Amino acid sequence: MNAKDLLHVAQEHGSPVYVYDADTIVSQYERLTSAFAKVENLRIHYAVKALSNISILKLFKQLGAGLDTVSSQEVQLGIAAGVDPSKIIYTPNGVSLEEIEKVASMGVQINIDNLSILEQFGAKHPKVPVCVRINPHVMAGGNANISVGHIDSKFGISIHQIPHLLRIVENTGMTVNGVHMHTGSDILDIGVFLYATEILFETAAKFKDLEFIDFGSGFKVPYKEGDVSTDIEDLGEQLSGRFNEFCKSYGKDIALAFEPGKFLVSEAGHFLAQVNVIKQTTSTVFAGVDSGFNHLIRPMLYGSYHGIKNISNPEGKNRFYSVVGYICETDTFAQNRQISEISEGDILAFSNAGAYCYSMASNYNSRYRPAEVLWHNGQAHLIRERETMEDILKNQVEVELELNSDLVEA
Ligand SMILES: *Cc1c(COP(=O)(O)O)cnc(C)c1O
Repeated sequence: MNAKDLLHVAQEHGSPVYVYDADTIVSQYERLTSAFAKVENLRIHYAVKALSNISILKLFKQLGAGLDTVSSQEVQLGIAAGVDPSKIIYTPNGVSLEEIEKVASMGVQINIDNLSILEQFGAKHPKVPVCVRINPHVMAGGNANISVGHIDSKFGISIHQIPHLLRIVENTGMTVNGVHMHTGSDILDIGVFLYATEILFETAAKFKDLEFIDFGSGFKVPYKEGDVSTDIEDLGEQLSGRFNEFCKSYGKDIALAFEPGKFLVSEAGHFLAQVNVIKQTTSTVFAGVDSGFNHLIRPMLYGSYHGIKNISNPEGKNRFYSVVGYICETDTFAQNRQISEISEGDILAFSNAGAYCYSMASNYNSRYRPAEVLWHNGQAHLIRERETMEDILKNQVEVELELNSDLVEA
């Protein structure tokens, strides 16, 4: 999508608004599947939590993808989008046995990440095959909050506990049909990732009834020029060969599964916000927009970088700005950023706004969550309406307390 297309969306649907380019999603999906073309049996499960709009899930269904889910609600959304439960994998962390049983009863593939639940589930439902999430204790990530494979991580069953895991499987008579790892977001170094996969292969060989190995995700996408990103083509080349070798030694053509979120949708998304005010202080020029961390929290939460362009004046002279939101606490999108000259009323476009942006939006400050638009063939399809006051009041219950009469205003 170019600046003109984006501006057109802002004019048609108002601001703030999220826009997703269907072509970018499709081409990222195709990049991934062609990188692993040499694998006979490839399963891509799109990680719903990155961007969970039902129309996005329908697009992935059309492409032939399955879904990776972390809550029973995401499972229900996927089923509502028409995805077959057998193509959904459920990888929760710290949820109750009841929720896992509920999801299993829908015919969804369960992925269990701790021995306590594995033991209880296996004892009650030995006929339901499960996948186990292994923690190989490899630190592949960039950001400590989103690195989940290290030794102190709450995720997965430690490789040091495999002997106990095998005893549980034997004693309950349950079937393990998959092994899984997800080392955390942002794989910067393919070598480190491949090292973790070797640990997973070694673990996989200990299970007799595997149908798949799931290598999780964490593919890094570029946020700005010069950023390191995961070389999917190189990873595909190296891992495909190794995987096919494993299948030979295992004696069965099992499936290779991935569950990317960010890689598939991050770059497809733009967030559009309008500049309400330009404020010149002694040290800084602020551009204050009609949004805040209630709509796009990643810069404040993770220190994430999002490119910002002034699409109302793309050819303007570059000047330095701090772009800030309207929330009543520090709410900075970008500091000292070179952006083409901004006037009040201009529309700014934030890039890499497809993953973990709308899905993390809130009603903080009692603001409405934005609208969402899916762009395809030069057309803007509204896929979520902007909220209204009704949404803010929905589920709120008004009570009037009986206070002592001397406290009540006459
Ligand atoms: C969040 C998550 C993913 C997706 O991670 P990305 O970095 O967005 O690709 C995949 N698998 C699991 C288990 C997750 O929790």
